[in-house]
Parts: sequence; structure tokens; C-alpha cells
Amino acid sequence: MRIDFHVHTKWSYDAFGDLSEISKWARLKGIDVVVVTDHNKVTIQKPKKINSTWFIPGIEVKISYGHVLGINLQDELNTKLLRERPFEAIHKTGGFCVLAHPFDLKGNRKIEKLEGVDAIEVINSSSILFNLNSRLSKAFARALNLAEVAGSDSHIPSTVGDAFVEVEETEFVSALKAIFDGHGKVFGKPTPMINRIKLNLLRMTKGKF
Ligand SMILES: [Zn+2]
Ligand SMILES: [Zn+2]
Repeated sequence: MRIDFHVHTKWSYDAFGDLSEISKWARLKGIDVVVVTDHNKVTIQKPKKINSTWFIPGIEVKISYGHVLGINLQDELNTKLLRERPFEAIHKTGGFCVLAHPFDLKGNRKIEKLEGVDAIEVINSSSILFNLNSRLSKAFARALNLAEVAGSDSHIPSTVGDAFVEVEETEFVSALKAIFDGHGKVFGKPTPMINRIKLNLLRMTKGKF
């Protein structure tokens, strides 16, 4: 099965599209599972199947040295703890912590600060310097002996699935376990320029920045 670990919906301040639109594109692109990682917000509380796509609860939060994804949150997040100790808050719900796009400008590669991180997002389709960032992130994950995941960081439905992780498992709970045990294969390409332009036009016309 194929999982896109990093997808925003219209409930993010800078993104567009609802789950039903995203599911149509996910199907077209052969994606079975989408982790909904809106900014600072848990948009869906429970796994949900729409058309043929599974949507899994997640979140993207800013920490002092970058962005962290909470993946497969199974319980309510403690917002106070999330602000103070984000990794602990995510783990308490039964979720996994992924350091997102560590080599983007806002990212940080301080190895001593990575306690609590379960995996590195080694491919992020929205990265500006896609090839360089992917190469550095993969080397970083290997140096730390951490699992690799990939996500489109999609902000409009048509870009879902631009990056994903593939595993043999056919059910998402065991698939996630296999991936965080290091058995996933990452794939991805940069978001095509036409879609970047489309997203920026939408942001300008709808005032979402
Ligand atoms: Zn981010
Ligand atoms: Zn994001």
C-alpha cells in the first residue's frame, strides 16, 4: 500500500480542498492512505474512509527548530503539553513523530535535539531545492539510524501523492508499523511548477497566506 504522510486541507490557513476532493486525486494517483496534517489542528479525530482512500489523523506543528508531524494520533492531543513538549504529547496519543523537511530554511539538523523523533521526512514535494534537500535528508536519516518517510506537503488536492511511502502490508496499522520499523520504500517528485503557480494564485484570490 502507498501512504502520503503530509497533506493539508482547506482547514489549514494556507491550503485548499476537502477530503472528498483529495480522495479523488489520491485514487487517481494510486494512493491508499493520506495522513491529514493540518497546521496546529487535528482535522479528523478518527481514521476515516472516503471513496477508496483512508484518511488518518495527524497534525503539523512548529517547534523551536522546525516542523514536526504527528502521525496516526489515536487520542486527543493535550494542547498545553503539545506546546511544551510536542514529542511527548504526540507519543501519548499513540502517534509517531516525524521531523518534517529538516533541510528547508526553517529546519534544523542538530542531532542532539532529536530525542523523541521516530522518523525523518526525507522527501517533501514542496521543498524548493528538492533534489538537494532529499539527498541531505536521506543522509541525515541514515546517520541517525531513523526510519524514512515521504510526503507531498500538498496544499491543493491535485498535488496529493506527489510523494509517498510504499510497503507490502495491505492494512494501514501494520503498514505504519513496518514503515516506522524502517521497511518502507520512499518515492517522490517535486510538485510541478504549474501546481505551485495554481496554489499561489488561489492564495492571492482567496486571501490565504
Ligand atoms: Zn512544514
Ligand atoms: Zn506542511
